[in-house]
Amino acid sequence: TSKAIVIGSGIAGIATSIRLAVKGYQVLVLEKNNYPGGKLSEITLGNYRFDAGPSLFTMPHFVEELFALASKKTNDFFEYDAHDTCCHYFWEDGTFLKAHSNHQEIENEVENVFPTNGKLFTKKLKKAAFINEQVGDLFLKNSLHDVRNFLNFKTLKALSNSWKLDLQTTYHASNKKDLKNSKLVQLFDRFATYNGSNPYKTPGIMSIIPHFEHNVGTFFPKKGMVSITNSLVQLAESLGVQFQYNTIVEEILVENEAVIGVKTANKIENSAIVVSNMDVYFTYQKLLPNQKAPKKILCQERSSSAIIFYWGIKSEFPNLDLHNIFFSKDYKTEFETIFDKKTIFDDPTVYVHISSKCLSNDAPKGAENWFVMINAPSNSGQNWDELIAKARKVIIQKINKILQIDIEKLIEEESILDPRSIEMKTASYQGSLYGTSSNSKFAAFLRHPNFKKGLKNLYFVGGSVHPGGGIPLCLLSAKIADQYIPTVSKS
Ligand code: FAD
Repeated sequence: TSKAIVIGSGIAGIATSIRLAVKGYQVLVLEKNNYPGGKLSEITLGNYRFDAGPSLFTMPHFVEELFALASKKTNDFFEYDAHDTCCHYFWEDGTFLKAHSNHQEIENEVENVFPTNGKLFTKKLKKAAFINEQVGDLFLKNSLHDVRNFLNFKTLKALSNSWKLDLQTTYHASNKKDLKNSKLVQLFDRFATYNGSNPYKTPGIMSIIPHFEHNVGTFFPKKGMVSITNSLVQLAESLGVQFQYNTIVEEILVENEAVIGVKTANKIENSAIVVSNMDVYFTYQKLLPNQKAPKKILCQERSSSAIIFYWGIKSEFPNLDLHNIFFSKDYKTEFETIFDKKTIFDDPTVYVHISSKCLSNDAPKGAENWFVMINAPSNSGQNWDELIAKARKVIIQKINKILQIDIEKLIEEESILDPRSIEMKTASYQGSLYGTSSNSKFAAFLRHPNFKKGLKNLYFVGGSVHPGGGIPLCLLSAKIADQYIPTVSKS
């Protein structure tokens, strides 16, 4: 048989289904929810629409690549625009920085706002580009579990240059050395949260992250983030992929050290290959109970999670943009509180995403849809109801202080997402947003590979495996797995 089964329709599962269909497989995606996309989905509250999870869209070429692979025109399915401002940054002492994506503009802005040389900002971005050039392909586009990927001139040269990659220092220390101004250091430290890590622990090589936002650019889909999911599902279906919703895979079936299919509540589905887009922790625990689990990999520290308030706000704020940050006064303690004390901080950094700034239909006239998020520890049984009540209070206090308003009065719709509900909705172990954290030098090597040695026909994709979480990396996990999956023979 040339049948392939994909467990889960997260973004990596959908991308895999497209790649397999192009390779000649007859693909069936089994999804436990009644909608596709996992974390990349949407909710509506009254007259407001919200993207449920991701809000920052970087590296759209990895989405476009899938349309090209299927010989289709992206614009027939999916459209997006570049956004010329990366973020609006606010501090409680009244400092405000508009982070333009244009390098000359951000240099000028930094010089106007801070008593520091604006070139420090763009120099740091050049360093990000250098790191990407040196090791981006090695770490993000290839398997780290295949020795052949290390035995080439480019990789060996990059590794011999490792002192330039800040491998031996923390990301925070690298920012402090390069940027000097404490607010700029905080601004760059925040990029560590893009993969759910702690800037005071994650290695300096994370300086690569701002490259994607500031050098490649920030984008926004014309029909919201959810249209990444919807358009790729449409593409997959046009290639013959079948999506079966409300279907929980209960077991991956193994015979003679090879996977032969899966079992759902009422059916056995045989297949030539199985790709799991389910969190790798639960894949072993729930679907492969008789296989030896790679304990060292599975007990890695998890990335942070989040508490999100979706607020329908019956007013408009011209000083806010698509992405806004209200910084904590004490970032170090905020991260210690999240990762060491595993609770939420009294003065959290608040992220406010307002898609109605670009998509006017997402909120009624004169109103805005606020996606308000703080980082939170992954779920280890904390009293979340109590923590959510506390978070709501401190977030409102912070926004009121910085914007000089009474935001609570303007909230006309509300819904909440927390680590428990993230875990329940998408079967992500401990509700982590990005699989495992990168809080150690070796984290990249301790993510699960995209295949399994000793068990044929089984592959892994998604945020919990190599190369990690976030939409672009999930799309790359599908691309790497694809390199190891045989093409269907025509005979
Ligand atoms: P997931 O989205 O985790 O989906 C897995 C799917 O598998 C789910 O649909 C689940 O129901 C299904 N499933 C699991 N088990 C089974 C089973 N046994 N049987 C059948 N189906 C099963 N990324 C960015 O790039 N930018 C951002 O701004 C950003 N912000 C984020 C904000 C939030 C609040 C969250 C939650 C995430 C954010 N991320 C962001 C991260 C990004 O959403 C994820 O890394 C990515 O979407 C994960 O995709 P995935 O392919 O791993 O699958």
